[in-house]
Amino acid sequence: MRRTVFNEDHEAFRETIRAFIEAEVVPVYDRWIEAGQAPRDFYKKLGELGVFGIEVPEEYGGAGEHGFKFNAVITEECARAGVSFGGSSVHTALCLPYLLAYGNEEQKRRWLPPFISGDMMTAIAMTEPGTGSDLAGMKTTAKLSADGTHYVLNGAKTFITGGVLADRVIVCARTAPPSAEDRRAGITLLVVDTTSEGYAVGRKLEKLGLKTSDTAELSFTDVKVPVEDRLGEEGKAFSYLGQNLPQERLGIAVGAYAQAAAAVRFATEYVRDREVFGKTVASFQNTKFVLADCRSEVDAMEAVVDRALEAHDAGELTAADAASAKLFTTERAAVVIDKCLQLHGGYGYMQEYPISRLYADTRVSRIYGGTSEVMRSIVAKSMGL
Ligand SMILES: Cc1cc2nc3c(=O)[nH]c(=O)nc-3n(C[C@H](O)[C@H](O)[C@H](O)COP(=O)(O)OP(=O)(O)OC[C@H]3O[C@@H](n4cnc5c(N)ncnc54)[C@H](O)[C@@H]3O)c2cc1C
Repeated sequence: MRRTVFNEDHEAFRETIRAFIEAEVVPVYDRWIEAGQAPRDFYKKLGELGVFGIEVPEEYGGAGEHGFKFNAVITEECARAGVSFGGSSVHTALCLPYLLAYGNEEQKRRWLPPFISGDMMTAIAMTEPGTGSDLAGMKTTAKLSADGTHYVLNGAKTFITGGVLADRVIVCARTAPPSAEDRRAGITLLVVDTTSEGYAVGRKLEKLGLKTSDTAELSFTDVKVPVEDRLGEEGKAFSYLGQNLPQERLGIAVGAYAQAAAAVRFATEYVRDREVFGKTVASFQNTKFVLADCRSEVDAMEAVVDRALEAHDAGELTAADAASAKLFTTERAAVVIDKCLQLHGGYGYMQEYPISRLYADTRVSRIYGGTSEVMRSIVAKSMGL
């Protein structure tokens, strides 16, 4: 079926990204996997390519494009090639919306130019060792100094994508205790300079998949954060998160769909070549049926993702819509990728085959950005349950 979600500009951009991946990522990707992260200068290359400035208004040096579809193109092309751009999707798809929506004029002038060039890489720190799904339970505190010039930040975060390389981290911290009526009140966003005294990067965590994005523990001991680095109003972080999580979840849904589509492609190519009992694996009726099932699952995922992308562009994607799209695509992608790996036999279990990386990489999509159980809770609530 012809897709109508992308226009000529998106398709031209797709060609550019595809060529860039072939030239700059595929030849060195194994080295990134070994190192456990993409190198710092790669992010500068993405900056030069214009990837970080797509949605940034022209007055700050960006391309001023509206919508999430260019991000979706990058996600699709990375999955197609069986690679990733390290942790850069956090920089553009997660952090940027906060800077654009809640940054004041001075902050935008200060932060957006280095954000676009890749000189200032960003990450976002919500999760703590003691709390992930239940964010209102966070313990990290930021106390305003007596003279009102800075906050004093104390606490710890974990699982922070891009946390090793980040120059600025959007940290969620309690500036006031939760009120009796609202546990979510009193949380504030601070854009913390990672060179500040008392700011420490702990372990770079070893993960099952996503081997080229660094994921870190962070700790804060009396870190002084100037009030000029507070993002938006004090105590409003929870409503800001509520505004931005649908886009994060849409991005994960696009990724899951794209990974499933790539898995079907990899498996289809593989079964045509591999011979057992004197014939190709593709010649077995089971193989044809399995791949036909997978293809129809991917078609369904594509329809969900494309509708969600259009709804997001129109400003109509609700929290429940995004949760539903993430739930469906990530759960189905897991099934499709598993079936495609099975068709590879033992080779599917070997890291050198992209299907094995997809299998490991896709697992986290049912966990981060909110678990499938949390997605079900959001959808059920929207049904009045
Ligand atoms: C690779 C990776 C990258 C990440 N990157 C970031 C990042 O950049 N920034 C960031 O802030 N965080 C990040 N995270 C954290 C991620 O968002 C959390 O792991 C996730 O929200 C789940 O929180 P948790 O791990 O504390 O699990 P928990 O909240 O402890 O959940 C444990 C289990 O309980 C279930 N559960 C929880 N609540 C309910 C409920 N109400 N009903 C039923 N079941 C429930 C969960 O679904 C899960 O199965 C990342 C995580 C990973 C693995």
